[in-house]
Amino acid sequence: MNLRIPGPTPLPPSVREALSKQMISHRSPEFAALQERIVHRLRSVFQTQGDILLLASSGTGGLEASVVNLISPGDKVLALSIGFFGDRFADIAEAFGAELIRVNFPLGQAVDLEVLDQLLAANPELKLVLVTHNETSTGVTNPLKEIAQAVKERSHALLGVDAISSIGSIPLAVDAWRCDVVVTGSQKSWMIPPGMAMVSVSPAAWEATRRAQSRRFYWDFAKMREAMAKGQTPFTPSIALYYALDEALRLMEEEGWDHVIARHRWIADHTRAGVKALGLELLADEAYASNTVTAIRTGAAIDAEELRAVLRDEYQVLLGGGFGELRGKIVRIGHLGYVSQSDIDDCLEAMEKALAKLRSRVKTV
Ligand SMILES: *Cc1c(COP(=O)(O)O)cnc(C)c1O
Repeated sequence: MNLRIPGPTPLPPSVREALSKQMISHRSPEFAALQERIVHRLRSVFQTQGDILLLASSGTGGLEASVVNLISPGDKVLALSIGFFGDRFADIAEAFGAELIRVNFPLGQAVDLEVLDQLLAANPELKLVLVTHNETSTGVTNPLKEIAQAVKERSHALLGVDAISSIGSIPLAVDAWRCDVVVTGSQKSWMIPPGMAMVSVSPAAWEATRRAQSRRFYWDFAKMREAMAKGQTPFTPSIALYYALDEALRLMEEEGWDHVIARHRWIADHTRAGVKALGLELLADEAYASNTVTAIRTGAAIDAEELRAVLRDEYQVLLGGGFGELRGKIVRIGHLGYVSQSDIDDCLEAMEKALAKLRSRVKTV
């Protein structure tokens, strides 16, 4: 199967081998060295001098951990949503009692910076702003640098970033852009299985964790930092994923970070050009089109779910579908992590054949 969903993404052969290694104790010097090696390299990818915490959870666990460590019930939180995952981040803040200002931008669009300025001016009491860097449901990458600049210059709020499907494939300079908490998930750019969230925490975010009254136990950042300083984790980590990440980071380093970023940019361009050559339209505003996932409108004549089924059953190509109101209207091609041009060419070729099949069917009815 050509697994072209935006996560879980395919595993390189050497990562699959790394996953089969024997267990070690998570309270051993060997584990401490492994964790240190991973965190050291993640810091350079995140472009931060700050702490990076490794959580045994899916990406959403990292989002929830961020919320509970930063706010108290009743705190004012601004959630900027450009799609399904932005809505989820907002829902988490709501679940923990935030006084939520939820702002949705049209699907396919990025955050409007003028609207953001107005929101920041109108809400001086904000404690936290939540934003998605790369909205996987629509294939849009927000102008995070500009968003962060506005938040930091026009408010005292902390900035929480869902970078689950961006960091590792799309540049994000955590310290330079002043992002307080940045969350990613193992099954997206990192070429390893699901089950680990990686979270960077700024000094200002650490301050906030001391005041935050949200209930937490497993997600307590302070406990994680204390254990990690001793080369451990508070609870049993997913050791197999550490093996896998150690190897995946080695592969990325070997390829070169600039090359990893450039490869994603190039493959995304190639994907968009190929999709347009098939006569299809992109959902995303092209100025903000994502380099990790492309969302494609299938048009009124083609049911996107039907196209996905044909691709899956007859061509062994699995695409993502649409969430909510986009269901049946779009398909999404994931092109992040362990991806090459031939994976995309294979996918585009299958799409061309499947579309021809569906279009001829439409005509005969
Ligand atoms: C995949 C994804 C999530 C959800 O991650 P899980 O690992 O499924 O919890 C959240 N946000 C974005 C932007 C994603 O791409």
